[in-house]
Amino acid sequence: MRIKRLEIFGFKSFPKKINIVFPAGISAIVGPNGCGKSNLVDALRWILGEQNPRFLRVREMTDLIYAGENGHRPDFAEVKLVLESDQNEGPRDLAKLSEISVARRLYRDGESEFYLNNRPCRLKDIVYLFLDTGVHARGYGIIDQGRVSQFLELSPKERRRFLEELAGIARFKLKKEETEKQ
Ligand code: ATP
Ligand code: MG
Repeated sequence: MRIKRLEIFGFKSFPKKINIVFPAGISAIVGPNGCGKSNLVDALRWILGEQNPRFLRVREMTDLIYAGENGHRPDFAEVKLVLESDQNEGPRDLAKLSEISVARRLYRDGESEFYLNNRPCRLKDIVYLFLDTGVHARGYGIIDQGRVSQFLELSPKERRRFLEELAGIARFKLKKEETEKQ
């Protein structure tokens, strides 16, 4: 899977709709302090299912909505991630599509919605989509400062989980755990 586009509206420091296109290859985002570079990473982490405001650098989830300066006060924040799919990846019903989009919307009353290819879905569907790809909210796809040393400090059990994800078997393990619970 490859990130093609990130569309943002009303999220953190982005009051108006922006569309960031990532061409094939390596992209770098540069800019002065406070211009919103880390906010873009927060947007990505949020769309991948992050549920803990602390990991998005806010006190409450609704603080993710643009705070409302210059007369702009959006009713909601929305982030949409458009991915190019390798066709054999992801859940079987989506495997034939060459483009997959995932969107998340949050209203000021705290209500939130998820969309997979523009259809309402559950957070769980999004988590499943990214399982074993390394691209989930706390996966190895996003490496923060200090993350490398964190890996060295993991307990053997936590390290095993991480390696299972790398090996691509986390999906099967989660399914097995869920089946055993039923
Ligand atoms: P640095 O180079 O210092 O790491 P950065 O480009 O990563 O900077 P960010 O942390 O992404 O900067 O952006 C910080 C800015 O985002 C601050 O000015 C902050 O006020 C603004 N911001 C965060 N949340 C909101 C919000 N809900 N509404 C409006 N602005 C916000
Ligand atoms: Mg930053």
